[in-house]
Amino acid sequence: MRPTVANSILGGSMATTICPVCDCEITDGGIEVAVGGNPITVCGEECAEKVKTAYSIVAKRKTAAEQASKNNLSVIREVYAAFGSGDYARVLGYFDSRLEWFAADNSPLADRSPYRGLDAVKTGVFDRIAAGFERLEVSVAEMFEAGNKVVALGYYDGTYRGSSVTAKAQVAHIWTLANGRPIRFQQYLDTLRVAENAKAAASGGGRN
Ligand SMILES: [Zn+2]
Repeated sequence: MRPTVANSILGGSMATTICPVCDCEITDGGIEVAVGGNPITVCGEECAEKVKTAYSIVAKRKTAAEQASKNNLSVIREVYAAFGSGDYARVLGYFDSRLEWFAADNSPLADRSPYRGLDAVKTGVFDRIAAGFERLEVSVAEMFEAGNKVVALGYYDGTYRGSSVTAKAQVAHIWTLANGRPIRFQQYLDTLRVAENAKAAASGGGRN
């Protein structure tokens, strides 16, 4: 019976096995190499080197991908921290200069959306937020990533200027990052609640 490659990868028996790299028969027991904690038996030094090289390339790629994703999540966390403290200059400092900002349909800032570039985002988004709100932060309930995108789910939480009305509304943000910098922002928003809150604030109410 001819042993399969799977048998040889799993260590096989002491009988003849097949080198998983070059398919030759291993008659002298071969050489064992560890690949990600799993031992693989190959025919000799040459095939052992091939396995080690291939594994190190895969491992490096994996580490780079993990590093990039960790960076993307931490960048967006820092963006929300800066936004919550009202430091919009610092928020802009995280963004790629080509950033495109898409406000949710029917949101108060949809009138000039999309905002392209940092000047447009500063004057169209952050200056108007600063003018309208005493305080506004994103209370993130969940944040995860998909490829080069980071998705944040939660609520806006804040207060309107000159009003006791709480600016609370459910929100979802999808960030696209390139080289650790946000390059695209898409907002989804409970615009009905925002409109109700804004109306209450404008009429001097304190609904909440
Ligand atoms: Zn071999």
